[in-house]
Amino acid sequence: MTDYPKLVAEANRLLFMEGLATSSGHVSAFDREAGVVHVNSFDTPRGRLRPADVVGVTLDNEPTDPDASRPVDEVEIHTAIYRARDDVNAVVHVHPPTATLFGIAGVDLVPVHIRGSVLEGPVPVLDRPDKITDRDDSDAMLAAMGDANQVLIRGHGAVVADRDVKSAVVRALVIEENARFQLGASVLGTPVAMTPAEAARVRDQNWTPRSIAKRWTFYTWRAAQQGYLPID
Ligand SMILES: [Zn+2]
Repeated sequence: MTDYPKLVAEANRLLFMEGLATSSGHVSAFDREAGVVHVNSFDTPRGRLRPADVVGVTLDNEPTDPDASRPVDEVEIHTAIYRARDDVNAVVHVHPPTATLFGIAGVDLVPVHIRGSVLEGPVPVLDRPDKITDRDDSDAMLAAMGDANQVLIRGHGAVVADRDVKSAVVRALVIEENARFQLGASVLGTPVAMTPAEAARVRDQNWTPRSIAKRWTFYTWRAAQQGYLPID
């Protein structure tokens, strides 16, 4: 059985260690069978989140345990995506320092690097910076996102959705990495985006369960070197 709180806690620690989560940023996992979304509590620092700091909510944002800590105030990001998409079981919301620049500058974030091929074209942008706290906000987010697995929120951050926690975390890290390559290339000249055919070809080589597992292993190893994992 999947230990959802442990996975969510590990994911937060990795994203903190890799510079994507700070005092903000959160991860959720959806246990579809139980109908429970496991998500960060509001105030625990992401770098030391423990399974006990992960709280359960229903798809209507109601706590499954009324005595538990309060969930993050943008829990609607997570539940809205699970209500709308049955291909998604994990959501990451972070404020990635480089990828966020693209939404601010109005420059398309496009696949330029082999790992960034997972983007499947320009990352859509929700053209307003507000927190996503109610259904009007999340409707706007879902409309901007369409059937993509990522969306930038202008002047705010990014939302990433995927089939499981490991894929969503690796995808978030890949988006930031691709953004760094694209930003660097734009200093030197004009970045060349992959054609859709190129992106599809290298995505098939790079976005495999084996490759995602390898990268999760790498990040957890690096987190162990720095004392963020394992959770004691
Ligand atoms: Zn936010």
